[in-house]
Amino acid sequence: MNVLIVGAGVVGVTTAWSLVQRGHRVTVVDPLEGAALETSRANAGQRSYGYVYPWAAPDMVGKALKGLFSKYGPFKITTPWSPRTLQFLAMTARCSLSHHRYNQSHAALLELAEYSRHCFQALEEPPEGSFDGQHEGLMEVANDQAACTALRQKAQVLDRLGVDHEWLSPEAVRQQEPGMQGPGPVTGGLRMPGDGTGDCHRFTQALARACESRGVEFQYRTAIKDWDLRDGRIRGAWVQRAPEEHRAGKKEAPSPAHYQETDQVVLCAGCASRDLARPLGLSLPIYPVKGYSLTGTIDDPAKAPLSTVVDHGYKVAMTRLGNRVRVTGFVELADFNRGIPARRLQVLREAFTSRFPGAADLGQAEPWTGFRPMTPDGPALLGWGRQGNLLLNTGHGTFGWTLSAGSAEVIGQLLDEETPAVDLAPFRPERFDRA
Ligand SMILES: Cc1cc2nc3c(=O)[nH]c(=O)nc-3n(C[C@H](O)[C@H](O)[C@H](O)COP(=O)(O)OP(=O)(O)OC[C@H]3O[C@@H](n4cnc5c(N)ncnc54)[C@H](O)[C@@H]3O)c2cc1C
Repeated sequence: MNVLIVGAGVVGVTTAWSLVQRGHRVTVVDPLEGAALETSRANAGQRSYGYVYPWAAPDMVGKALKGLFSKYGPFKITTPWSPRTLQFLAMTARCSLSHHRYNQSHAALLELAEYSRHCFQALEEPPEGSFDGQHEGLMEVANDQAACTALRQKAQVLDRLGVDHEWLSPEAVRQQEPGMQGPGPVTGGLRMPGDGTGDCHRFTQALARACESRGVEFQYRTAIKDWDLRDGRIRGAWVQRAPEEHRAGKKEAPSPAHYQETDQVVLCAGCASRDLARPLGLSLPIYPVKGYSLTGTIDDPAKAPLSTVVDHGYKVAMTRLGNRVRVTGFVELADFNRGIPARRLQVLREAFTSRFPGAADLGQAEPWTGFRPMTPDGPALLGWGRQGNLLLNTGHGTFGWTLSAGSAEVIGQLLDEETPAVDLAPFRPERFDRA
């Protein structure tokens, strides 16, 4: 079957790999210069199979309001609030009212994450070159008694859901991460021993090369301009290549859009999926939830994290990626504002120094901002769209790197009319139609 994949982020490229392995002829289009240059570029690097949870938690509205006005609160909303932001907040608040929905989504995310862990084992073979991937566990560190209580409650939920985890005393936390010698208080830690890390951007680029060597055609600098929708099926798309920049600074005239015929479309366009799906009659409530990261070279490996540590107080993740460290934080509703305020980076630096002083000079680190493609409840949109030949694999929010390998395989199963490996009910793309 000829399959057109829209988007070359980690989700699109893992999907391409799954489909080419199954014998399909795959074309991937993306307006950027290469793979994984949008949200998959510099995320926190965690493959947190035991640590996935829905966005719309029952206590999220209260927590968000509490942290909104503090410099250190992770949740931010840029003013004035846009209609899109308000609509997303209202939908999120509505989803967060249902404990049943939260519990069901949580279990479904954990099931997909566990399947993804399994799929990653096979996927780690093809990419040539290191993506600094490892499975040395994820640890969330409590900084006071209230954090301890919150993490112990989390541990009870993980117990109930059968997720492998361990509770660590302050001494055990420091044994686990001997570089953690900063002044930040430690009152305990929750560790997921089987969780992993890795550079999502490097992984995706390597996997894209492996896909190409198996015949996948990547059309970069190329965007979908319009759909050819007839008799309820997508027959093809008009795609347009961006003009080349010349050295003299002059641009080529844009080339006319060309027609790309296809049997099947898989939409993997992250935050852009909403606009791309609208002409198809689909209303996808995906919102770009902004975050920031700093990536720096490690000066002293003995003082650096060995794996990934989440500071419960700052809500900042600190992840070892080979000889680099990445510090990531904030959950901000700012539409598509790509600005990187210095005060956000300052909080990331403070959080890191309070745990791992002397490990890296984050003054020299590379700043980045990206947008989590978030649905109002949290689970992705994974499954058939209204058109008979449209599949969606988008809206993975906070956990797209973690869930990519599993959800790509699920798309292959749906396309080949096999029973999906996980229960897809909480991921149904049409679940917001009447919300
Ligand atoms: C700060 C931050 C930290 C994060 N940390 C983690 C983490 O630790 N672990 C984890 O699992 N996840 C994490 N995430 C989430 C994860 O990065 C995302 O869920 C994931 O990258 C989404 O991948 P994607 O392929 O769906 O989207 P993207 O990577 O955004 O890819 C979508 C692609 O679609 C393309 N596109 C856009 N318009 C068009 C068009 N018209 N035609 C064709 N293509 C188009 C874009 O150019 C882009 O390349 C984090 C995200 C952020 C922002």
